[in-house]
Amino acid sequence: MQTLKARVEAISPLTEFVHKVLLKPQHDAEFSAGHYLQLVLGEKDKRAFSIASSPSRKQELELHIGASGADSYAMQALDHLREAHSNDADVDLEVGLGVSQVRPEQSRPLVLLAGGTGFSYVKSMADYLAEINYDQPVLFYWGVKEEAALYAKAEMEAWADGKTNFQFIPVVENASDDWTGHTGYVHQAVMKDIVSLEPYSVYMAGRFDMIGIVRDDFINHGAQRDFMFADAFAFIK
Ligand SMILES: Cc1cc2nc3c(=O)[nH]c(=O)nc-3n(C[C@H](O)[C@H](O)[C@H](O)COP(=O)(O)OP(=O)(O)OC[C@H]3O[C@@H](n4cnc5c(N)ncnc54)[C@H](O)[C@@H]3O)c2cc1C
Repeated sequence: MQTLKARVEAISPLTEFVHKVLLKPQHDAEFSAGHYLQLVLGEKDKRAFSIASSPSRKQELELHIGASGADSYAMQALDHLREAHSNDADVDLEVGLGVSQVRPEQSRPLVLLAGGTGFSYVKSMADYLAEINYDQPVLFYWGVKEEAALYAKAEMEAWADGKTNFQFIPVVENASDDWTGHTGYVHQAVMKDIVSLEPYSVYMAGRFDMIGIVRDDFINHGAQRDFMFADAFAFIK
């Protein structure tokens, strides 16, 4: 784990509820794709956010923060970042946390599964896998409630266009009549598309209640527990 001070370069909306934050650390940030950082609000108050950018971008860290409700965990973190930004002050970070970073050396086909802002965790891995020319299949599923939440759809379609072994599959829970893709829960779309998850490594992020359900359903669908990765596992039964 690395402690760093960083400037808040920019905060911009991705949707009504999700904000992109760009941080410029004082020193190169050292982390692996899939790690998270903690924004230090106080000695005992540290807020966890996945790093959305690739580890090759050592001088700029990108976060995607989903925040609604004035007093929510995420909104307080966002307020802290906004205040530092307007005062041109540093924020304190702990970088390189978690045990669910991508493991390309295992050389297995991958399912990258994101629910909502869990996208941030998976995005770093997707960019990194493209940079290292990962040669196994990579299936990137992104589930959202409404189509409007797919703020990086075009970017991920371009990511998949570049490689024959990469696929991007957006899944909308409450789709409009115009939507022609998968609907419902994102992990159910995975189980529709893939007969058995036995050969796959699965990396996932999303709401804690979602992750518990996905873990159990995927194990029933052939996934091996040793090849399922989520930092949320540390927080749930
Ligand atoms: C280490 C760590 C890092 C984190 N990093 C971030 C971060 O970078 N940014 C951030 O905003 N938050 C972060 N969080 C908090 C947490 O990941 C988010 O609260 C969560 O991703 C929010 O999801 P959402 O509200 O966008 O999803 P929703 O909009 O509620 O759901 C999106 C999709 O997820 C699926 N889903 C949701 N609920 C269920 C269910 N019960 N069963 C099956 N499928 C379901 C569906 O496909 C749904 O359409 C982090 C938490 C931890 C522990």
